[in-house]
Amino acid sequence: MLPRNTEVVIIGGGVIGASILYHLSRRKITAVAVEQNELATGSSGACDGLIFLQSKKPGTHLQLALESKARFEHLQDELDLQVEYRNPGGMIITENEDELTAMVSLVEEQRNTGLDVCLLNPHEAREMEPSLSDAISGVTFCPLDAKVNPILLTLAFISWAQRHGGRAVTDCEVTGIEVKSRRVRAVHTTRGSIEGFVMAAGHEGDGVALSPGTGALIAELIDMGSTHIPLDEFALARFHP
Ligand SMILES: Cc1cc2nc3c(=O)[nH]c(=O)nc-3n(C[C@H](O)[C@H](O)[C@H](O)COP(=O)(O)OP(=O)(O)OC[C@H]3O[C@@H](n4cnc5c(N)ncnc54)[C@H](O)[C@@H]3O)c2cc1C
Repeated sequence: MLPRNTEVVIIGGGVIGASILYHLSRRKITAVAVEQNELATGSSGACDGLIFLQSKKPGTHLQLALESKARFEHLQDELDLQVEYRNPGGMIITENEDELTAMVSLVEEQRNTGLDVCLLNPHEAREMEPSLSDAISGVTFCPLDAKVNPILLTLAFISWAQRHGGRAVTDCEVTGIEVKSRRVRAVHTTRGSIEGFVMAAGHEGDGVALSPGTGALIAELIDMGSTHIPLDEFALARFHP
Protein backbone atom coordinates (compact mmCIF):
# COMPACT_ATOMS: atom_id res chain seq x y z
CA MET A 1 0.00 0.00 0.00
CA LEU A 2 1.15 3.52 -0.75
CA PRO A 3 2.03 5.49 2.39
CA ARG A 4 0.57 9.00 2.70
CA ASN A 5 3.92 10.59 3.41
CA THR A 6 7.58 9.81 3.44
CA GLU A 7 10.87 11.63 3.41
CA VAL A 8 11.80 10.52 -0.08
CA VAL A 9 9.93 9.17 -3.07
CA ILE A 10 12.01 7.33 -5.62
CA ILE A 11 10.57 7.00 -9.08
CA GLY A 12 11.44 3.64 -10.60
CA GLY A 13 12.27 0.19 -9.32
CA GLY A 14 15.25 -0.51 -11.56
CA VAL A 15 18.80 -0.95 -10.24
CA ILE A 16 19.25 2.79 -9.73
CA GLY A 17 16.02 3.31 -7.79
CA ALA A 18 16.70 0.14 -5.81
CA SER A 19 20.25 1.22 -4.97
CA ILE A 20 19.01 4.63 -3.85
CA LEU A 21 16.36 2.99 -1.66
CA TYR A 22 19.04 0.78 -0.14
CA HIS A 23 21.45 3.63 0.54
CA LEU A 24 18.74 5.84 2.02
CA SER A 25 17.54 2.98 4.22
CA ARG A 26 21.09 2.47 5.45
CA ARG A 27 21.02 6.10 6.54
CA LYS A 28 17.64 5.56 8.21
CA ILE A 29 15.89 7.94 5.83
CA THR A 30 12.35 6.77 5.12
CA ALA A 31 11.89 6.21 1.43
CA VAL A 32 9.45 4.61 -0.98
CA ALA A 33 10.34 3.38 -4.45
CA VAL A 34 7.38 3.63 -6.79
CA GLU A 35 7.43 1.37 -9.84
CA GLN A 36 4.83 1.42 -12.59
CA ASN A 37 5.42 -2.22 -13.57
CA GLU A 38 7.32 -4.91 -11.66
CA LEU A 39 10.76 -4.47 -10.10
CA ALA A 40 13.74 -4.88 -12.43
CA THR A 41 11.62 -5.14 -15.56
CA GLY A 42 13.16 -2.09 -17.27
CA SER A 43 16.65 -1.92 -18.73
CA SER A 44 18.17 -3.19 -15.46
CA GLY A 45 16.53 -6.54 -16.06
CA ALA A 46 17.77 -6.67 -19.64
CA CYS A 47 21.37 -5.48 -19.32
CA ASP A 48 24.30 -7.88 -19.37
CA GLY A 49 25.44 -7.16 -15.79
CA LEU A 50 29.07 -6.84 -16.74
CA ILE A 51 31.38 -5.09 -14.31
CA PHE A 52 34.04 -4.36 -16.88
CA LEU A 53 37.05 -2.20 -16.19
CA GLN A 54 38.91 -2.56 -19.45
CA SER A 55 36.06 -1.03 -21.45
CA LYS A 56 36.35 2.25 -19.52
CA LYS A 57 38.34 5.20 -20.72
CA PRO A 58 41.20 6.17 -18.41
CA GLY A 59 40.17 9.10 -16.24
CA THR A 60 36.85 9.57 -14.47
CA HIS A 61 35.12 6.56 -16.07
CA LEU A 62 37.86 4.12 -15.18
CA GLN A 63 38.21 5.61 -11.69
CA LEU A 64 34.48 5.20 -11.07
CA ALA A 65 34.56 1.66 -12.45
CA LEU A 66 37.47 0.77 -10.16
CA GLU A 67 35.64 2.14 -7.14
CA SER A 68 32.48 0.34 -8.19
CA LYS A 69 34.40 -2.93 -8.58
CA ALA A 70 35.94 -2.55 -5.12
CA ARG A 71 32.42 -2.03 -3.76
CA PHE A 72 31.15 -5.18 -5.47
CA GLU A 73 33.75 -7.27 -3.64
CA HIS A 74 31.76 -6.77 -0.42
CA LEU A 75 28.27 -6.00 -1.69
CA GLN A 76 26.93 -9.54 -1.65
CA ASP A 77 27.89 -9.90 2.03
CA GLU A 78 26.52 -6.46 2.78
CA LEU A 79 23.18 -7.28 1.14
CA ASP A 80 23.14 -10.74 2.68
CA LEU A 81 21.61 -12.20 -0.48
CA GLN A 82 23.01 -14.04 -3.48
CA VAL A 83 23.54 -11.70 -6.46
CA GLU A 84 25.68 -14.13 -8.51
CA TYR A 85 28.74 -11.92 -8.38
CA ARG A 86 31.67 -13.60 -10.14
CA ASN A 87 35.13 -12.40 -11.04
CA PRO A 88 36.37 -14.65 -13.86
CA GLY A 89 38.11 -11.84 -15.80
CA GLY A 90 36.89 -10.57 -19.13
CA MET A 91 37.85 -10.52 -22.77
CA ILE A 92 37.16 -8.07 -25.55
CA ILE A 93 37.57 -9.62 -28.96
CA THR A 94 38.88 -7.75 -31.97
CA GLU A 95 37.82 -9.09 -35.33
CA ASN A 96 40.12 -7.21 -37.71
CA GLU A 97 43.36 -5.26 -37.84
CA ASP A 98 41.68 -1.84 -37.43
CA GLU A 99 39.98 -2.93 -34.21
CA LEU A 100 43.21 -4.46 -32.97
CA THR A 101 45.12 -1.22 -33.64
CA ALA A 102 42.51 0.77 -31.70
CA MET A 103 42.71 -1.70 -28.83
CA VAL A 104 46.53 -1.61 -28.72
CA SER A 105 46.49 2.10 -27.92
CA LEU A 106 43.61 1.80 -25.40
CA VAL A 107 45.36 -1.05 -23.60
CA GLU A 108 48.59 0.95 -23.49
CA GLU A 109 46.73 3.94 -22.03
CA GLN A 110 45.02 1.73 -19.44
CA ARG A 111 48.23 -0.03 -18.47
CA ASN A 112 49.87 3.37 -17.96
CA THR A 113 47.22 4.11 -15.33
CA GLY A 114 48.09 0.83 -13.60
CA LEU A 115 45.16 -1.30 -14.81
CA ASP A 116 45.99 -4.98 -15.14
CA VAL A 117 45.04 -5.61 -18.77
CA CYS A 118 46.92 -7.29 -21.60
CA LEU A 119 46.67 -8.19 -25.27
CA LEU A 120 46.60 -11.83 -26.29
CA ASN A 121 47.21 -13.13 -29.79
CA PRO A 122 44.54 -15.46 -31.26
CA HIS A 123 46.48 -18.57 -30.26
CA GLU A 124 46.88 -17.43 -26.63
CA ALA A 125 43.24 -16.38 -26.55
CA ARG A 126 42.03 -19.78 -27.76
CA GLU A 127 44.07 -21.50 -25.10
CA MET A 128 41.99 -19.62 -22.53
CA GLU A 129 38.72 -19.82 -24.44
CA PRO A 130 38.75 -22.71 -26.96
CA SER A 131 35.40 -21.77 -28.46
CA LEU A 132 36.75 -18.54 -29.98
CA SER A 133 36.69 -18.35 -33.76
CA ASP A 134 39.84 -18.75 -35.86
CA ALA A 135 38.96 -15.49 -37.56
CA ILE A 136 39.66 -13.14 -34.62
CA SER A 137 42.62 -10.74 -34.78
CA GLY A 138 43.25 -10.64 -31.03
CA VAL A 139 41.79 -10.35 -27.56
CA THR A 140 42.29 -8.06 -24.61
CA PHE A 141 42.08 -9.71 -21.22
CA CYS A 142 41.58 -8.08 -17.83
CA PRO A 143 41.55 -10.40 -14.78
CA LEU A 144 39.60 -7.81 -12.76
CA ASP A 145 36.54 -7.87 -15.01
CA ALA A 146 33.52 -9.34 -13.27
CA LYS A 147 29.82 -10.06 -13.59
CA VAL A 148 26.68 -9.86 -11.49
CA ASN A 149 23.06 -10.82 -12.06
CA PRO A 150 21.39 -7.40 -12.47
CA ILE A 151 17.92 -8.69 -11.58
CA LEU A 152 19.12 -10.33 -8.36
CA LEU A 153 21.13 -7.22 -7.57
CA THR A 154 18.06 -4.98 -7.93
CA LEU A 155 15.92 -7.32 -5.85
CA ALA A 156 18.64 -7.65 -3.20
CA PHE A 157 18.86 -3.88 -2.78
CA ILE A 158 15.09 -3.70 -2.40
CA SER A 159 14.96 -6.67 -0.05
CA TRP A 160 17.63 -5.23 2.26
CA ALA A 161 15.83 -1.89 2.30
CA GLN A 162 12.49 -3.56 3.06
CA ARG A 163 14.05 -5.39 5.99
CA HIS A 164 15.20 -2.01 7.32
CA GLY A 165 12.14 0.18 6.88
CA GLY A 166 12.30 1.04 3.17
CA ARG A 167 9.30 0.39 0.93
CA ALA A 168 8.72 -0.49 -2.69
CA VAL A 169 5.33 -0.24 -4.35
CA THR A 170 4.82 -1.84 -7.74
CA ASP A 171 2.09 -1.44 -10.34
CA CYS A 172 1.97 2.23 -9.41
CA GLU A 173 2.75 4.92 -11.96
CA VAL A 174 3.89 8.40 -10.97
CA THR A 175 1.73 10.76 -12.97
CA GLY A 176 2.68 14.16 -11.60
CA ILE A 177 4.76 16.08 -9.11
CA GLU A 178 3.57 18.96 -7.00
CA VAL A 179 6.01 21.81 -6.49
CA LYS A 180 5.44 24.74 -4.15
CA SER A 181 7.89 27.52 -3.35
CA ARG A 182 10.53 25.71 -5.35
CA ARG A 183 10.20 22.56 -3.29
CA VAL A 184 8.64 19.30 -4.26
CA ARG A 185 5.72 18.67 -1.91
CA ALA A 186 3.88 15.66 -3.24
CA VAL A 187 3.93 12.96 -5.83
CA HIS A 188 0.76 11.94 -7.61
CA THR A 189 0.41 8.34 -8.67
CA THR A 190 -2.21 6.04 -10.08
CA ARG A 191 -2.67 4.74 -6.51
CA GLY A 192 -3.02 8.08 -4.78
CA SER A 193 -0.65 10.81 -3.63
CA ILE A 194 2.35 10.81 -1.31
CA GLU A 195 3.34 13.90 0.57
CA GLY A 196 7.02 14.63 0.91
CA PHE A 197 10.04 15.32 -1.16
CA VAL A 198 10.52 13.76 -4.49
CA MET A 199 13.93 12.44 -5.01
CA ALA A 200 15.48 9.68 -6.86
CA ALA A 201 19.02 10.52 -5.88
CA GLY A 202 20.75 12.27 -3.05
CA HIS A 203 19.39 12.59 0.43
CA GLU A 204 20.16 16.15 1.37
CA GLY A 205 18.64 19.37 0.17
CA ASP A 206 15.36 20.09 -1.41
CA GLY A 207 14.67 17.17 -3.62
CA VAL A 208 16.66 16.32 -6.64
CA ALA A 209 15.60 13.46 -8.83
CA LEU A 210 17.68 11.33 -11.07
CA SER A 211 16.20 7.84 -11.77
CA PRO A 212 14.76 6.66 -15.07
CA GLY A 213 15.39 9.69 -17.20
CA THR A 214 13.77 12.04 -14.72
CA GLY A 215 16.85 13.98 -13.59
CA ALA A 216 16.44 16.62 -16.25
CA LEU A 217 12.75 16.69 -15.67
CA ILE A 218 12.96 17.37 -11.97
CA ALA A 219 15.64 20.01 -12.38
CA GLU A 220 13.23 21.78 -14.72
CA LEU A 221 10.33 21.39 -12.33
CA ILE A 222 12.21 22.81 -9.41
CA ASP A 223 13.53 25.63 -11.52
CA MET A 224 10.04 26.60 -12.54
CA GLY A 225 8.61 26.60 -9.05
CA SER A 226 5.37 25.33 -10.54
CA THR A 227 2.53 23.89 -8.56
CA HIS A 228 1.47 20.68 -10.22
CA ILE A 229 3.08 19.32 -13.31
CA PRO A 230 1.98 16.15 -15.07
CA LEU A 231 5.01 14.11 -16.07
CA ASP A 232 4.03 13.87 -19.72
CA GLU A 233 4.41 17.59 -20.33
CA PHE A 234 8.03 17.46 -19.31
CA ALA A 235 9.10 14.23 -20.88
CA LEU A 236 11.05 16.07 -23.52
CA ALA A 237 12.15 19.00 -21.37
CA ARG A 238 15.69 20.14 -21.99
CA PHE A 239 18.07 20.20 -19.07
CA HIS A 240 19.48 23.62 -18.13
CA PRO A 241 22.28 23.08 -15.59
C1 LIG B 1 25.97 -4.69 -13.24
C2 LIG B 1 25.60 -3.58 -14.18
C3 LIG B 1 26.55 -3.11 -15.06
C4 LIG B 1 26.25 -2.05 -15.91
N1 LIG B 1 27.23 -1.59 -16.73
C5 LIG B 1 27.00 -0.53 -17.51
C6 LIG B 1 28.04 0.02 -18.34
O1 LIG B 1 29.17 -0.44 -18.33
N2 LIG B 1 27.74 1.11 -19.10
C7 LIG B 1 26.50 1.65 -19.09
O2 LIG B 1 26.27 2.64 -19.79
N3 LIG B 1 25.50 1.13 -18.33
C8 LIG B 1 25.71 0.08 -17.55
N4 LIG B 1 24.72 -0.41 -16.75
C9 LIG B 1 23.44 0.31 -16.71
C10 LIG B 1 22.31 -0.39 -17.45
O3 LIG B 1 22.63 -0.59 -18.79
C11 LIG B 1 21.04 0.48 -17.36
O4 LIG B 1 21.34 1.76 -17.85
C12 LIG B 1 20.57 0.59 -15.94
O5 LIG B 1 20.30 -0.71 -15.45
C13 LIG B 1 19.31 1.45 -15.87
O6 LIG B 1 18.85 1.47 -14.54
P1 LIG B 1 17.61 2.38 -14.12
O7 LIG B 1 17.19 1.92 -12.77
O8 LIG B 1 17.97 3.83 -14.28
O9 LIG B 1 16.52 2.14 -15.24
P2 LIG B 1 15.49 0.92 -15.42
O10 LIG B 1 16.05 -0.38 -15.06
O11 LIG B 1 14.94 1.08 -16.79
O12 LIG B 1 14.39 1.27 -14.33
C14 LIG B 1 13.57 2.39 -14.46
C15 LIG B 1 12.22 1.99 -13.94
O13 LIG B 1 11.44 3.17 -13.81
C16 LIG B 1 10.10 2.83 -14.07
N5 LIG B 1 9.39 4.08 -14.37
C17 LIG B 1 9.60 4.94 -15.39
N6 LIG B 1 8.74 5.97 -15.33
C18 LIG B 1 7.96 5.74 -14.24
C19 LIG B 1 6.85 6.43 -13.66
N7 LIG B 1 6.37 7.57 -14.19
N8 LIG B 1 6.28 5.91 -12.55
C20 LIG B 1 6.74 4.76 -11.98
N9 LIG B 1 7.78 4.06 -12.52
C21 LIG B 1 8.37 4.53 -13.62
C22 LIG B 1 10.22 1.86 -15.24
O14 LIG B 1 9.06 1.03 -15.35
C23 LIG B 1 11.46 1.08 -14.88
O15 LIG B 1 11.18 -0.16 -14.22
C24 LIG B 1 24.96 -1.47 -15.89
C25 LIG B 1 23.99 -1.96 -15.01
C26 LIG B 1 24.30 -3.01 -14.16
C27 LIG B 1 23.25 -3.52 -13.21
